[in-house]
Amino acid sequence: MIVGIAEAFLVSDPAHQPGSQRQKGTGSGPNDPRPIQNSDSLDPCPILPRPPTTRSAAWSALARLGPAPFLAVVLGCTTLLFVGCLRLAEFASGPEPEETRIPSAPHVDRLIRVRLLGRAPVADGRLAVTGPYSIHDARSGAPLFQGTGPLGLCLVRPDPDARGVYIGGRRLDSDDLVVTPVRDGGITLARPTRRAIRRRTYRGRLRITRQGDRLTFTNLVDVESYLLGVLRGELPRSFHPNSFKAQAVAARTYVLFQKGEGPTGRSFDVLDNEGSQMYIGVQGEDRVAVAAVRATRGEVCVWNDGGDERIFCTYYSSTCGGRSQSVEHFRATERPIPPLAGNVVCEDCAVSAHYRWGPVRLSRDEVTRRIVARYPSIRKIGPIRDLIPKGLTAGGRIIRIQLNGSSGENETLMGEDFRLSIGGRTLKSTCFTIETDGRGFVFANGRGFGHGVGLCQYGMDAKASRGMNYQDILAVYYPGSTVKKLY
Ligand SMILES: [Zn+2]
Repeated sequence: MIVGIAEAFLVSDPAHQPGSQRQKGTGSGPNDPRPIQNSDSLDPCPILPRPPTTRSAAWSALARLGPAPFLAVVLGCTTLLFVGCLRLAEFASGPEPEETRIPSAPHVDRLIRVRLLGRAPVADGRLAVTGPYSIHDARSGAPLFQGTGPLGLCLVRPDPDARGVYIGGRRLDSDDLVVTPVRDGGITLARPTRRAIRRRTYRGRLRITRQGDRLTFTNLVDVESYLLGVLRGELPRSFHPNSFKAQAVAARTYVLFQKGEGPTGRSFDVLDNEGSQMYIGVQGEDRVAVAAVRATRGEVCVWNDGGDERIFCTYYSSTCGGRSQSVEHFRATERPIPPLAGNVVCEDCAVSAHYRWGPVRLSRDEVTRRIVARYPSIRKIGPIRDLIPKGLTAGGRIIRIQLNGSSGENETLMGEDFRLSIGGRTLKSTCFTIETDGRGFVFANGRGFGHGVGLCQYGMDAKASRGMNYQDILAVYYPGSTVKKLY
């Protein structure tokens, strides 16, 4: 994926902060937790008329009409009231925008669970909701609270003394709850970063789960709405519209594969960062992203696995550097099925600034420190004296790397694991040479950015700019695969 672009865009450009935070009556800042507005009523249907407690004049006049007309009028009023309640219930569940309607193939479960604010539980979060909303217990479905107005930005934290969660000043007696706004796209979650408060607004619902004295925040969102928030997280605006379409199909396949084939027992399907796919929510929904998602609605990559059409994990990365590599060199446990077997020649990504990189110089102490921080057991071999590549792919990527320690012992890491230990932006790929000098190591002749498995994003864009359609682009980078409409 093309890292860095989206983060820089979000942090540095306040003009792109979600508009809901600037609306009258909503949050005033992260350090100003505010109570839930219009929060006095816990009546789940507060605008329904209350039953009469005394006989009014009109009621008496009706009664004087005689039994038959009286019954007809009462029956009519009851019917009207029933229909009105149905319409109110429909309104309370929120209008479904075009892209989130139930698909024609109802067997496809399209609900995606996106873990926000990182994989690990956090101490607290800051939440705002635009417009009315409801809160339910995630497990029983029991209603916990009905907010009849917007929720200003407020602190969400566990109750330190008992079970339950505080949202603003209100305690909710549940450790696992779901916030559902009436208006789709009305959930905003904020997190202080080193430089600013980062706010992101999301479609769908928000699940807040307590784990001990910490919380996890998970966006429950339809896959098509999710994709609207992925494309601009992954691609710069300058990319060709056909690149956005190819990316939409790859990202849809990836997330549906993670949902269906991911580790069992996991409470989420994907992260919102580079660990899965960059997901920036509503502020990523520009014209080209929306058009690409709609044009490819329901389309996924499949390959023929002995007569069965299957989706697969459509890995992709920024710049392959000349040739893709097999998935088995990236994740040792994964089967190198034809679409992920690598060896796709791609000189189109030569336009990328990451096509060539280096040299990068690091001292022996620095390399040792970074490796041990990720793999503490390697400390036992002492300070790392030499790095020996063991096996190269056809594209020149290092498959494994032997670490010779000062103690005389050695350890071996997968090339990708070594790279990520040093830093995925320091060593942009596993395609480099290693030289040593008096002060340490020189990583030189670097090529590419990312793991180099599957789709190459810069290569994709060069092909799209030459007029190639998105189906053909995907067929190049995932050999043996085709695009199929799932719903
Ligand atoms: Zn490439």
